[in-house]
Amino acid sequence: MSTEGHRPHPSTKTSLIDHARSLDCIHCGLCLTTCPTYQLTGSETSSPRGRIHLMRAVAEDRLEPDAGFAEEMDFCLVCRHCESVCPAGVEFGAMMEFTRSSLREQQPPGPLARFARWVGFRRILPSRFGLKAAVLGLQLGQTLGLIRLAAPLLGLRGSVMRHLPKVPPRSERRPLPAVTPAQGEKRDRVLVLEGCVMPELFGRVNHAVARTLSATGLDVLSVPKHVCCGALHAHNGEMKDAEELARETIRRFDAVDPSARIVVDSAGCGAHMREYGRLLANDPEYAARAAAFGARVVDYSEELSLPAARARLRPLLRAGHGIEGPITWDDPCHLCHGQGVVDQPRQLLDLVPGLERREMTAANSCCGSAGIYSVLRPKDSLDVLAPKLEHLAKSGAKTLVTANPGCHQQWLVGIGREGMDVPVLHLAEVLDRAISAGE
Ligand code: SF4
Ligand code: SF4
Repeated sequence: MSTEGHRPHPSTKTSLIDHARSLDCIHCGLCLTTCPTYQLTGSETSSPRGRIHLMRAVAEDRLEPDAGFAEEMDFCLVCRHCESVCPAGVEFGAMMEFTRSSLREQQPPGPLARFARWVGFRRILPSRFGLKAAVLGLQLGQTLGLIRLAAPLLGLRGSVMRHLPKVPPRSERRPLPAVTPAQGEKRDRVLVLEGCVMPELFGRVNHAVARTLSATGLDVLSVPKHVCCGALHAHNGEMKDAEELARETIRRFDAVDPSARIVVDSAGCGAHMREYGRLLANDPEYAARAAAFGARVVDYSEELSLPAARARLRPLLRAGHGIEGPITWDDPCHLCHGQGVVDQPRQLLDLVPGLERREMTAANSCCGSAGIYSVLRPKDSLDVLAPKLEHLAKSGAKTLVTANPGCHQQWLVGIGREGMDVPVLHLAEVLDRAISAGE
């Protein structure tokens, strides 16, 4: 990659780069030490500032968007840690989505990768049937020991697959009822996102979310036939599919209730849905509706931190929940950096009697999951996780709490590989158990 021959104005390559956003960077370098890929390599080109420099160089015709450029874009986890420390308000996540999408269109991957992406993004993620078939395949592989047999052939990918969680029993994979009625005096009603992967692998979390919200006086409404919000598509440059899934999400949720708050228990989905307004800004039919929809999205911890919710929740929580402490909270990137939600989960955990919470060093740094990054780049993903596993061990925590299926899974893999005995729970599971202890 050469950046010789500086020309300050964007050229034909602007279609590849969000040039206007790249101009916001003032090169201060405050983001460098927060960046996991910079920490791994010490290389400026693998830092946020370096990547922005590369993007601008491409847009201004000083650099060819060659394989080296594409590799730096793919190496980024889009964890957005750089965004949350940036004094200039650079919207790095949006820039990266734009660049990845343009690269996919202008430099399509080979036939095998194209087929894999078509299966994953078109046939599995947005289809309940496709998701169930994929989970059935995983279950068969686990039951028949095929994954164990294939692991040595798949190298690191195989060793990671060996630590995938057992597909939960069918009883944990049932969808939410249309309405989970409010307990006691009804305060309000909310919609919940069940999501694509969540019902198949973390259905128990969705049910814990519905139970805990209803316990605080909310009618909890699920959205029939909705599957996928499109977050993983956007994260991986499949922007046209992401836009279509956003429109479908808006239509389906609004058909149930066009004004209720939308509670999301998966940080990556919540961060994405909040930004539907930006995603569909150029769609005259949906732009205003998408912005209004995004403004109704709240994280689960935000909903329960509202004063009325907290007042109802606090007296329900009891010791005797069986959760081994001390616990520690690990911030999902798309919750703390993507949505600015930092204090609420900690404060909710601190309400639980008999549970000591310890702060883990670098709790807000990326665990390496990053959507499907851990599948596409298992070595880099585990390298990013390695220091966090050390921080977890040093914290002395006996239980780790988080709020995103990808992070949850990544921790299970890392903890399993290290032979540590630290269960991983979603925040909703902790609160649900503490409520159950009093019943
Ligand atoms: S999004 Fe994360 S990995 Fe990518 S440049 Fe920013 S801090 Fe680094
Ligand atoms: S913190 Fe923001 S302005 Fe400073 S170098 Fe990083 S992206 Fe640029």
